[in-house]
Amino acid sequence: MNIKRREFMTGLAALTTVAATPEPNTSVAASGRSYKYLGRVNGYVEHRIIEPGRTVEKIETFTRGPVGVVRITTNDGKEGTGQISTFEPDISATILHRHLASQVVGKDPANIDSIVDRCIEANYKFPWSFVCRALAGIDTALWDLYGKIKGKPVYELLGSKKTSILAYGSSMRRDISPEDEAERLVRLRDSHGFRAFKIRIGQVNGHDGDASPGRTERLIPTVRKAVGNEVKLLVDANSAYTPPKAIEVGRLLEKYNVCHFEEPCPYWELEWTAEVAEALQVPVAGGEQDNDLAQWRRMIRMNAVDIVQPDLCYIGGLTRALRVAQMARQANKPVVPHSANLSMVTLFALHLLAAIPNAGPYVEFSIEGNDSLNQMFYRPRLEVKDGSVKIPQRPGWGVEIDSEWLKSANYQKSERPA
Ligand SMILES: [Mg+2]
Repeated sequence: MNIKRREFMTGLAALTTVAATPEPNTSVAASGRSYKYLGRVNGYVEHRIIEPGRTVEKIETFTRGPVGVVRITTNDGKEGTGQISTFEPDISATILHRHLASQVVGKDPANIDSIVDRCIEANYKFPWSFVCRALAGIDTALWDLYGKIKGKPVYELLGSKKTSILAYGSSMRRDISPEDEAERLVRLRDSHGFRAFKIRIGQVNGHDGDASPGRTERLIPTVRKAVGNEVKLLVDANSAYTPPKAIEVGRLLEKYNVCHFEEPCPYWELEWTAEVAEALQVPVAGGEQDNDLAQWRRMIRMNAVDIVQPDLCYIGGLTRALRVAQMARQANKPVVPHSANLSMVTLFALHLLAAIPNAGPYVEFSIEGNDSLNQMFYRPRLEVKDGSVKIPQRPGWGVEIDSEWLKSANYQKSERPA
C-alpha cells in the first residue's frame, strides 16, 4: 500500500470511530468536520446534575420595579428560584409565560442543556434579547432546584470548593466630577478593602464625545493619583468611540496603568473592536450585551476582545454562560462576567467565577448602593469585606427571597392543566 493510500485508510478508520461514538448535539460530516449546536465547543460537557423522572408542575413570576424573580415547582414539591434579567422584567415575564413556559411545564427538568436549546429553537422568529432575558429566569431557577435536590450550592455542583471571590467596585456614574469620583473610591478602598475599581469614560454610544468636555482626560490621572498604584483600575467606555479615538484614549489608559478597557467601540462593531485590541497593550473587554452564541464564537475567534464578559441574565442563564466560558478557555481568555447591579445577577456571577478554570480575578460589584437596582431583595445580602465577597453556602444559589418583596410583586403563573 502506498503512503497516500495508507493515510487515506487511516483517515477512514478515524472517521468510522467518530461516527460510532456520536456526541450529543454534534453533527459529523463525511469530511470528519463536526458541527456543534448552539455554541458548544470541544470540551463542553452537557450537565446532568439530577436523575430524570420528575415533572415541572408550574412556573411563577414575581416582578417589581426593575427586577423579576422566577419560581419553578416540580411534581414532588421541590422548588427552585432564579431571576429574569433586570430592566423591563414585566415584558420578559410575559415572554416567559407566552413563549417559553410550554417548553418547560409538564416536562422533565433534568436535562438543562436540552431545555435551554428548546426554548431558543422554539423561538427562532424572536431571537435573543427578550427571549434570553426570560430564559435566564428558567435556567437559573432550574440550577437552584438542582442545588436544593442535591443539598449543594451551585458552584459545588460544578465541582468547585472556592468560597469567596475578590470584587472590583463598579461605578455607574458619568455625572460625577473626577475629584468627587476619586474621593468616593478612596473612601471605599479604605472602608471595604477594594483593591480594584471600574470607572466610566466617554459617553454611552458617544460618537467620540465625552460626558462633559475633557472629563476622561482629567478623570484617569485624578483617580490613579488618589487610589494609588496598588489598586487595579478598569474603565468602561460603553460603546463610546470609533477606532482612532479609542486608540488615542487607550494610549492614555496605558500611561496610567489601566488593566481593562471595556466596550471601546459600539459593541456590535466587532471589526472595530478587534482593530482597537490589536493596536493596544491594554486588554480590551466586552460581550455583556451579546446573547447569540454564534456571535460569541466569532468575537472570540477574531480576537475582538481579550477579556470575555457574558452577563448571565442577558445571555439566558448559567448554562449558556458556561458555553461562552468554554469558548474563552479554548482561546486562553479570562472571563469577567458583567454584573452591574446587586440583583441576583451578581450572585450568579460569583458561582460562575468559582466554578470555571479561566475565571478572571474579580467579580463586578456595584457601588451605587441606593437605587432600586441595588436594594438586595434576598438574604443573606452580599457584602464586600477586605475586598472579597463570600459566596452564600446554602444549597442552590444559597439565598432566600424576602417574603415581603414577593408579596408586593406582580404575580403570574403557568401550570400544568389539572
Ligand atoms: Mg460595561
